[in-house]
Amino acid sequence: MNTIFNKIIDIIYPLDCRCLACGHTLYHNEHMLCDKCAAGLKPIEGRRCRVCSRRLYMEEELAEGLCGGCRHLPLERRIFGGAPFDHGETAARLVYALKYEHIIAAAEPLIPGMLNELPKGFDALVPVPLHVRRQRVRGYNQSMALCEALGRASGLPILNALRRTRATRQQMKLAADEREANVSRAFEVIKPVGGKRLIIVDDVRTTGWTILSCADELYLKGAINVRSLTATLAVIGR
Ligand SMILES: [Zn+2]
Ligand SMILES: [Zn+2]
Repeated sequence: MNTIFNKIIDIIYPLDCRCLACGHTLYHNEHMLCDKCAAGLKPIEGRRCRVCSRRLYMEEELAEGLCGGCRHLPLERRIFGGAPFDHGETAARLVYALKYEHIIAAAEPLIPGMLNELPKGFDALVPVPLHVRRQRVRGYNQSMALCEALGRASGLPILNALRRTRATRQQMKLAADEREANVSRAFEVIKPVGGKRLIIVDDVRTTGWTILSCADELYLKGAINVRSLTATLAVIGR
């Protein structure tokens, strides 16, 4: 029912005439985003954590160049990653549209920012897989949608190297101390990755446990450098 309703709305107001973040009708001079949402898509500024790229505020964080979360992680658990936007305003709305509203084009406005954060000298983009059941319900994987848009813009190939071995709960709905166990050993490598430098692409990085869990498996199978690139960085819930 909902799908039929959405299809009728799509015919009356085609997607390319509506702001991808807020859904308002676009004026002729606007493209993909209305002016208000475009103004709200601001890259993270100032000093950033040299591991996860989070903006640093506290004096002790600034002194070390590490955020509170990364400071307490042992070296082997620090997976370096870039992300252009905080998980707020327009960026969060685009991620929501991409994930829950079937608006795959919502990946596009995030791509120029992600391209700026793309590390040099890497071989391929690796999407974070969904569990097969969730992918069936959603119909696509938002991480793959970001990989495809980023692949087109950067020329980097996509290596669909991971499979989710069990269903996990959504990380953003869990408390910080539940997240590691939720995704631990939840992935397996299904493509050769030996000797490769890989970028794990996802929509949001919060505690980084999902990325760490993926990176652990890729390193175990011989990848030589694994980083992450996400559209946004969410505040770590406590
Ligand atoms: Zn808008
Ligand atoms: Zn950090």
